[in-house]
Parts: sequence; C-alpha cells; structure tokens
Amino acid sequence: MALLPPNIGSFSKPIQQLWDYMNPCILCPRKCKVHRGKGQIGFCGIGPLPVVSSVAPHFGEESVLVGPSGSGTIFFAGCNLGCIFCQNYSISHLGEGNEISFAKLADIMLSLQKQGCHNINLVTPTHQMPMMLRTIMIASEKGLKLPIVYNCGGYESLHAIQILEGVVDIYMPDLKYFDPAMAKMYSQAEDYPEAAMAAIREMHRQVGDLVTDQRGIATRGLLVRHLVLPEEIAGTASVVKFIAEEISKNTYVNIMDQYHPCYKAFDYPSLNRRITHQEYADAVQMAEDAGLKRIDGITV
Ligand code: SF4
Repeated sequence: MALLPPNIGSFSKPIQQLWDYMNPCILCPRKCKVHRGKGQIGFCGIGPLPVVSSVAPHFGEESVLVGPSGSGTIFFAGCNLGCIFCQNYSISHLGEGNEISFAKLADIMLSLQKQGCHNINLVTPTHQMPMMLRTIMIASEKGLKLPIVYNCGGYESLHAIQILEGVVDIYMPDLKYFDPAMAKMYSQAEDYPEAAMAAIREMHRQVGDLVTDQRGIATRGLLVRHLVLPEEIAGTASVVKFIAEEISKNTYVNIMDQYHPCYKAFDYPSLNRRITHQEYADAVQMAEDAGLKRIDGITV
C-alpha cells in the first residue's frame, strides 16, 4: 500500500503537482524516478514525510535575515547534492534528523514566529518541497505571516520552482560552480551549473532583487550565495559575471570565505586546505569588476 501522507485528497493543486513530481521522483534534476509515496528512497535519502534535523532562531545567517531577533531556521535532513566537502554532512548525507508530522512542523513555524523571528528559513528544502508547501499551508491557516526563505543548494528543477511562485518570498540559492566537470567531480551533479542558472533566472523573475524594510531586514527578493573554493574550483569569475549580466547588477550576493576541508575533502589535494586571504580578495574583486553593487559585508 502506498505510504501517502494524511489528507492527500484535500491537497490543493500546487501541492498535488509537487506530490506527482515525487511519484516517480523528478522533483530535482537528478530524476531518480523512485516512488517516494510508496516508501522508495532515492539519492536524497528521504521518503514522503518531513524529516527535520534542527529548529532554532539562528543568528549566523546574513544580517539582512537575522535582524535583532534571528532567522527562524528549520534544517531539513538529506540532500540532493553529493558535495564531498559538505559542512553539514551528518545532516545531509548521514540523514541525521527525525520524521515529523505536518501539523507539528506547522506548530514549530508558528512558535518561531511567536519568538520574534523575522522569517521562516527553510534550509535544504528542495527534496522535501511538497512537505514544505503542505506545512506552510497549515501554518498559514493558523496565522503564519512571516516571509518564507527558500535556502537551497541551487540544484533545482525549473518545473518545481515555478510552482513555488507566490509562496516563497525570499530565494537564497547557492551558485556553487560554473564548470560542469567541477560539479561532477565534487558534487556528483554534472548538470548543476545549467540547472542552477535556470532556477536562479526563474527565482529572480518571481521575486526580483532583494528588498529590505526600514530596519534593513529582508522582506522579499533574491540573495545568491557563492562559496569561494581553493584553486578557482568554484569558477568565481564566471559565476559573478553570470549574476551581473544575466540576473541583475543589484543582486544581493554573499561571497563566502568560510570554506574549510570537511567530510571527504581531505582525500582531494586541491580541496584539502582553506582558501587564502588573496583568493578571497581576488573573488571579491571579480564581483566588483563584474559590476555587482550589493556584496554582503562589503561597501562597494
Ligand atoms: S528529490 Fe531526491 S529522490 Fe527525487 S530526484 Fe531528487 S535526489 Fe532523487
């Protein structure tokens, strides 16, 4: 018998569509085609119910999300990418987390709102999109008003992202690579650059450049993260050129310097070290030279 979540019959059209994309699963570009509703498991390791690793007001995100009271962060377990340097590998690859009901997860969102958080920040939601949407609907019916942040790795399917129009307020994708060979070698996803760039175009079409309120807290828009890797593995020059020329020079971009070897990265000589100060300075210079005007933490 299929392991359907409760009340599947009352799912609205977008949730039903996402559910259909999960059975067989083409929810993300990996297209495992397993029937998750029947309990089959694909690359991401997650079935038909939400699996959450942790929940808390988080103060370590970008200042535009954190404000004085924190970003209401929900970390989903599992991941559709296979990054050998994953900094959350116990959650993303070892599946650390607990299955939770839709109603309980909706109550958690409401509790984060009650604690004063400025948004609901869904971390690694791609492979749990139908569950995420159903939970948001339940929470909204009970009074959830906060902006929804879709905080993802960038390996997205266009057909799924299109369904999120009107639900997600702030998209925060990574743009990890420009070169398919690098994406294949280090994240097992050769089509990552093509998929991520198409998804980011669609995200920007839906929500536009990042907008903040009088306090400087984000209310809507796109925020792109790019982790600088050693030896130009991330293709920073091409990534920032793409954002500046094909998305918008006003895109809010976080050029991140915190790479450190983790998980399997110690087995790869080029990734077995932190980046140098010079590598980071060069990356920021590339972004400025490309014409980007809103680089997190940098006054251009
Ligand atoms: S969401 Fe998971 S099961 Fe579905 S295609 Fe992607 S990796 Fe495979």
